[in-house]
Amino acid sequence: MSDDETIFEKIVAGEIPARSVYETDAVFAFLDANPLAPGHTLVVPKEAYERVGEMPADVASDVFAAVHRLTPKVEDAVDADAVTVGVNDGKAAGQEVPHVHVHLVPRFEGDGGGP
Ligand code: 5GP
Repeated sequence: MSDDETIFEKIVAGEIPARSVYETDAVFAFLDANPLAPGHTLVVPKEAYERVGEMPADVASDVFAAVHRLTPKVEDAVDADAVTVGVNDGKAAGQEVPHVHVHLVPRFEGDGGGP
């Protein structure tokens, strides 16, 4: 393991535990450790790319296919009313982990919150 591996690479490799939600050859989805709402899920490419625009198109497509598949399932799993789907793409946008991740945050009528 190299020292500059991101925390999400370590999660993908099973070196750090996470609550797995979904997995394909290219994508891993797991529960956020500090959820903004119950069921808050992160979808990441298994290969590490820091920024959305750095992903090859096929990887971006795989990530969005997983988002497409998981969004209704996450919403149903916690009986939410909607889902905020979001990416903080770059430090100034609030990105803390330098490995692309899509937030799926279940939303509830009147919750007044969100990322
Ligand atoms: P960002 O601010 O980069 O868009 O979001 C990073 C997200 O990763 C945060 O919501 C944070 O709670 C989550 N996170 C950071 N470290 C870990 C971890 O070790 N495990 C899990 N499951 N989530 C993490």
